[in-house]
Amino acid sequence: MIRVNENYLKLQTSYLFSEIAQRVADFQTARPDMEIIKLGIGDVTRALPRACIDAFHRAVDEMADDTTFRGYGPDQGYPFLLEKIARQDFQARGADITEDEIIVSDGAKCDSGNIQELFATDIKIAIPDPVYPVYLDTNVMAGRTGSFIEGRYEGILYLEGSRENGFIPDLPPEPVDLIYLCFPNNPTGVTITKPRLQAWVDFAHEHNALILYDAAYEAFIRDDTLPKSIYEVEGAREVAIEFRSFSKTAGFTGTRCAYTVIPKTCMAFTRNGDRQSLHDMWLRRQTTKFNSVSYPVQRAAEAVYSEEGRAQSQALIDGYMTNADHIRAELAALGYECIGGENSPYIWVDSRTESWKFFDLLLEEAGVVCTPGAGFGRCGEGYVRISAFNSFENVQKAMQRIKKVL
Ligand code: PLP
Repeated sequence: MIRVNENYLKLQTSYLFSEIAQRVADFQTARPDMEIIKLGIGDVTRALPRACIDAFHRAVDEMADDTTFRGYGPDQGYPFLLEKIARQDFQARGADITEDEIIVSDGAKCDSGNIQELFATDIKIAIPDPVYPVYLDTNVMAGRTGSFIEGRYEGILYLEGSRENGFIPDLPPEPVDLIYLCFPNNPTGVTITKPRLQAWVDFAHEHNALILYDAAYEAFIRDDTLPKSIYEVEGAREVAIEFRSFSKTAGFTGTRCAYTVIPKTCMAFTRNGDRQSLHDMWLRRQTTKFNSVSYPVQRAAEAVYSEEGRAQSQALIDGYMTNADHIRAELAALGYECIGGENSPYIWVDSRTESWKFFDLLLEEAGVVCTPGAGFGRCGEGYVRISAFNSFENVQKAMQRIKKVL
C-alpha cells in the first residue's frame, strides 16, 4: 500500500496567498466593475533592467549556434557570475567571501526550503513569528514538529516579534541548534543593526548553533550603516548560511536566479561531535537533485553587476522605495502606526483591529489588496503588510481610496 508522508497533513490547509487569491476572486465576481489594486503578494511589477534583457538575448543567440551552444553548466554556477557576486556583493563591503563559497540556484525560496534536509530531525529550531511561511512549513513537512495546536506547531521555539521589541526578536532564552533570521524582514520590513546581528552570531558560537540568514531584500537597504550581509559581522563565517536572490534586487521573480553562500569554515556536527562541512553537504545535495540555472539566465544575472545594470536595478529599487515612502506618509497622516518601509519594500501597519477584518475592509471598500498579518503567525494578528511593489500611479490611487474608508 502506498502511504503518504503524514507530516503534510499537519500543514494548515490554505497557504496564505491562496486564501487571499480566493477572497479577491470572489470579490471580483461580485463586483466586476471594481478595478482591484494589489499591494498584497510580494511580486515585482516592473520590467527587467535593459542590461539584463540585452545579455539575455545575446545568450539565447549563443544557444542557437553549435559553436557557442552550452549544455549542462558547472554545478555551482558559471564562474563569470560567481566572481562578480563575490567581488561586488561581499568583498566590496568588507565581507570575506570567495567565489567558491557561492552556489547559484533558481530561487531563495527553494534554497531556504531545501536546506533543512542537511540537518538531523531532532534538532531544536527557532523560527520568528511573524515569519515568511517557507521556513516553518518545510520543517513541518520534514517531520521536525508536532501537531498544530492553538496556532502553533509543537516542538518549535517561536521568536516573538511585538511592538515592544520593534519586531526584532530577542535572543532565545534557551540553547537552540538552528535559527532562521530574515533582514530586511518579510513581512515586517524591519532591519537589524550590526551590533544586534553580532549578538545573534555570538549566541550561535556559544551554542554550536547555525543561523540561516535570508537577505533576499538587502538591495532595499538605504541606510549604509546597516549590514547587507551577515558576513559583515565578525565570526559569521563559522555559524551562518546566507540566502540571496535576484528576484527583488533586479526583478527576476519570473526569470529565476538566486544564490546561497556557505563559507568553507561553516560546520555542523555528527552525533559523535565530528565536524562536517555544510558547504560540501549542500553541494552534494544540489549536484544530486539540481542541474543549476540556465546559461541565458545566469548571463542576465551577470549583467546586474555591469555599470548600466547596477544603475538600472537601482532605479527599479528607488521606484519601489518612492512608493514605500508614499504609503508610509499617507498612513501616518491617517494616524496609523507603521513599521518597516524605510529600508524595505514592506510596510507593516498596526491595523487596530483583526487583520483579516482589515483586509476585508480594504478589499471591499477600497478595492485594495493587502496581506493580513495573522497569515504570518500568531504575532502578526492585528497587523497587515502593505507591499510597495506596484506602479506609483496605482499606489497613489490605492492610498486615495484608502483615505476615504479609514
Ligand atoms: N525569501 C524571502 C524572505 C521572500 O520574501 C521571498 C519571496 O517573496 C523569497 C525568499 C523567495 O525568493 P525567490 O524568488 O528567489 O525564490
